[in-house]
Amino acid sequence: MDRRQRIAIVGAGLGGLAVAGFLQRAGFAATVYEQAPTFSRIGAGIILSANVTKALRRLGIEQDLVASGLKPHCYISRAWDTGETLYEIIFDASSEARFGGPYLNIHRGDLHAVMHGAVTPGSISFNHRLVGLEELSGAIRLVFDNGVKVDADIVIGADGINSKVREFVVDAEPPRFVGAVAHRAIFPTQRLRGFKIPDCTKWWGRDRHILPYFMTSRRDEIYVIGVVPASKWESDAPSVPGSREELINCFANFHNDLLRVLEAAEDVSVWPIFDRERNDCWSRGRAVLLGDACHPMRPFMAAGGAMAVEDAAILTRCLATIDAAAEAFRCYEATRIPRVSEVQRISIENSWMRGPTDVDWFYRYDSCVAPLTQPNATEMKRRRAQ
Ligand SMILES: Cc1cc2nc3c(=O)[nH]c(=O)nc-3n(C[C@H](O)[C@H](O)[C@H](O)COP(=O)(O)OP(=O)(O)OC[C@H]3O[C@@H](n4cnc5c(N)ncnc54)[C@H](O)[C@@H]3O)c2cc1C
Repeated sequence: MDRRQRIAIVGAGLGGLAVAGFLQRAGFAATVYEQAPTFSRIGAGIILSANVTKALRRLGIEQDLVASGLKPHCYISRAWDTGETLYEIIFDASSEARFGGPYLNIHRGDLHAVMHGAVTPGSISFNHRLVGLEELSGAIRLVFDNGVKVDADIVIGADGINSKVREFVVDAEPPRFVGAVAHRAIFPTQRLRGFKIPDCTKWWGRDRHILPYFMTSRRDEIYVIGVVPASKWESDAPSVPGSREELINCFANFHNDLLRVLEAAEDVSVWPIFDRERNDCWSRGRAVLLGDACHPMRPFMAAGGAMAVEDAAILTRCLATIDAAAEAFRCYEATRIPRVSEVQRISIENSWMRGPTDVDWFYRYDSCVAPLTQPNATEMKRRRAQ
């Protein structure tokens, strides 16, 4: 595609920053519009598996990610009551060679800061909340809440689960509450008073699970995310304050090794979990979606961010190698939808690494070189007729 095409990216989250970085490296002058006034260090951890770190390597940030995060020695699944090890994976030089990249735990704020460095300075406009899109002849117009209007050839909606671009592409249906909330906390490791824990453990209960893990190689802070059923969510806020007592109550029958950690927790907050039903419509006209904007998923496989980064790599390759945007979008959708929908399915099932698991198909995948899938002719005809 002609590198002079004006590409506007809405949202500077993981997907938006990744696609900006990939497109700019491919020679496009992509610009990002973000509603927030600046990046803030939101308190939570995130797991980056090898399929993500090897994609981010192409943005030249792998070493910075490793320096900011932790290469965990292992991930362990344990039974809530007996503490029996159900599954364990060791991460070392040989697993890194096998998967083609490191597995990392990292603070989201640190991840954002590193990814920001992969984008051309000055190419992100903060304080720009998209409020509307208008089709013009030969362009698409972005309308922002600050009165700014921008005309572009292509709009990439990387604006998360409540995407405004999705309203233009699909509909304005709100996301669905999945009937679960996440209790999250970050606290200093010294509060464990010498009690040692592995780098990452997932404790599996009947209807709930919880993961304590370290986010930096100093191992001086622990992040805990515990997911429990909830019949409703009534707040408009992204999260509400929680408490150590409430957290302990939710996992009161769990093994003592976990309770020792929860007794040290502080600064607990409670977050609703939303997703959407699978919908394979990811583009319309000059607008295309990626990440949570088109496939928000339950965070039970720790893979939503990973899918956004892979989307970014594949979309860039399609735009870089295919002349017409519509054909590039079809190729992007045909390549991504089978893999993403499998990850969505496993996330709903909450079965990833619960017991013996084939992880190769997921970790070894390289979105920067994996074959692109040509859409079939029937699908092309159907979409052209829309
Ligand atoms: C509890 C929890 C734990 C998770 N753990 C993991 C994990 O360990 N590993 C993993 O890979 N994934 C994890 N995920 C999933 C992951 O966080 C998301 O899938 C990922 O953040 C999606 O990236 P995105 O860029 O699509 O959207 P987001 O990261 O949500 O970014 C969207 C951006 O768009 C901006 N925006 C929104 N609307 C507008 C607008 N109208 N105008 C301008 N800007 C706008 C937002 O401010 C934001 O910056 C987890 C999710 C949750 C809820």
